[in-house]
Amino acid sequence: MSVPESHPRYHSLKMRELIIEGMEKGLVAKAGLIAHGRGEAFDYMMGEKSLPPAIRASRAAAAMLASAQKPVISVNGNTAVLAVRELVELSGLLGAPLEINLFYRTEERIARLTEFLEEHSASNILGAEPDNKIPGLDHDRALCCADGIYSADVILVPLEDGDRAKALADMGKMTIVIDLNPLSRSSKTATIAIVDELTRAIPMLAANVRELKGLSSQSPADLDKIVGEFDNQKNLSDIIQEMSGYLSSI
Ligand code: ATP
Ligand code: MG
Repeated sequence: MSVPESHPRYHSLKMRELIIEGMEKGLVAKAGLIAHGRGEAFDYMMGEKSLPPAIRASRAAAAMLASAQKPVISVNGNTAVLAVRELVELSGLLGAPLEINLFYRTEERIARLTEFLEEHSASNILGAEPDNKIPGLDHDRALCCADGIYSADVILVPLEDGDRAKALADMGKMTIVIDLNPLSRSSKTATIAIVDELTRAIPMLAANVRELKGLSSQSPADLDKIVGEFDNQKNLSDIIQEMSGYLSSI
């Protein structure tokens, strides 16, 4: 199946196609289809665009990533198939590894995702040989790499499951979550939640990182100030206000 570019919902249908193909290739878990659908519903409620609070969150997240000592990008099936190029670009910009971190972990899916990332020129991939655990999580969901998530100071966890986002916060990590649902536990427990669609959010984040890193006048104190001024609870309530405003204007 191929979606004609003239279709008014081209981008949305294209993403569905990528997720379905990703599942058929063993990259995306079945539950990934459901997670994507939940995201689509929230995107409708924000007019399928990046709202001002998400733009502010992206700026704060970029400052946090730009000043991180050891940033890591967590990757799952959905994020890989939707935004592989942008994730690889961000990984290069930050010198941050891409750690494959799956809720429904199977060795086969890890191998396929590793291959998929390599095909897209990712050079810094972790996750195939986890040698540590995130405390407080059971079974395979706890597995992580000592050199990656376990020792990172800032972790970008797009579409993370709420339980694991909380466990990372309990470890003292600073987490940046990308999630269209402002009510999710992931959004609430993140240090910074960017409530936006992944394929809009990752390029915006990369552009902000590029800009902040490129500003020679930007001191570590300036970056800390941008991060310090960000209040996640307030930002989530701003997003909800924006969404209700949008819905009542229809
Ligand atoms: P909680 O965080 O409350 O524990 P959960 O993490 O278990 O919930 P899931 O449905 O597993 O909930 O998580 C998927 C999340 O990812 C949903 O909240 C959905 O809004 C979000 N999501 C799905 N696709 C995208 C996307 N393309 N861009 C941004 N967010 C998305
Ligand atoms: Mg979640």
